[in-house]
Amino acid sequence: MRKFDGDKLVIASHNAGKLREMGALLTPFGITVSSAADYDLAEPDETEDNFIGNARIKAHFAAKETGLPALSDDSGITVEALDGAPGVYTADWAETPNGRDFPFAMTKVWSLLEIQNTPFPRKAAFNCTLCLAWPDGHDEIFVGRVDGQVVWPMRGEEGFGFDPIFMPDGKNQTFGEMDPTEKHAMSHRADAFAKLVKGCFA
Ligand code: IMP
Repeated sequence: MRKFDGDKLVIASHNAGKLREMGALLTPFGITVSSAADYDLAEPDETEDNFIGNARIKAHFAAKETGLPALSDDSGITVEALDGAPGVYTADWAETPNGRDFPFAMTKVWSLLEIQNTPFPRKAAFNCTLCLAWPDGHDEIFVGRVDGQVVWPMRGEEGFGFDPIFMPDGKNQTFGEMDPTEKHAMSHRADAFAKLVKGCFA
C-alpha cells in the first residue's frame, strides 16, 4: 500500500455535494485540496459498468492532467428489489433534457417499488468507491457502504442527490434530514474514507 506523503491533492469531481463532503473529511490532514474545476478539467466519460472502473477513470485522468495525486469518488444507491439499480447509473437516472433532476429520479425509484408492490422495509445501500491515483499510474482503491431503506416522501434539505429518501439502519431520519456531521460519521463515503486514512494517511 502506497502512503500519501505530499501536501497537495486534487479531488477529481465536479459534483458540489461530493466536493463539500470530501473537503470536510480531508480537513484534519492539513492537505491543500483543489478540485477538478480549479484546473478546468473536462469530465471524462464513465464508460465502465462498475464503481471501481469509473473511480479509476476519474482519478487517473485528473492525476495525469494536473501532475498531482488525485482522489475520485464513484458512488450510488443500490435498491435490493430493483436488482441493485440504479447503482453505478445513479446519476444517469437523474438526467433530463433540462439537466439533472434528483426529485425526478427519486420519484422513479419509488414508483417502480410501488408498481411491484415491494414489501417494507424497502432495503437499499449507498456505496462509495474511492480511488487515490498518482501521476505515475499507481492507485489505491477503498470501498465503503451503508445499509438502510428507501422511504417516502422525500424528507430534508441537507446533503445532496438521493439523501432525502435514504434512511440508514438504526436511524429515524433520512440523510437529507441529518446534520452533516452525523452523516459524515456513518455514511458510505465516511466508511471508505476511514479505510483510505488507515491505508494511505496513517
Ligand atoms: P457518480 O459517482 O458521479 O456516478 O454519481 C453518483 C451519484 O450517486 C450522485 O450524483 C448522487 O446522486 C448519488 N450519491 C452518491 N453519494 C451520495 C450521497 O452521499 N448522498 C446522496 N446521493 C449520493
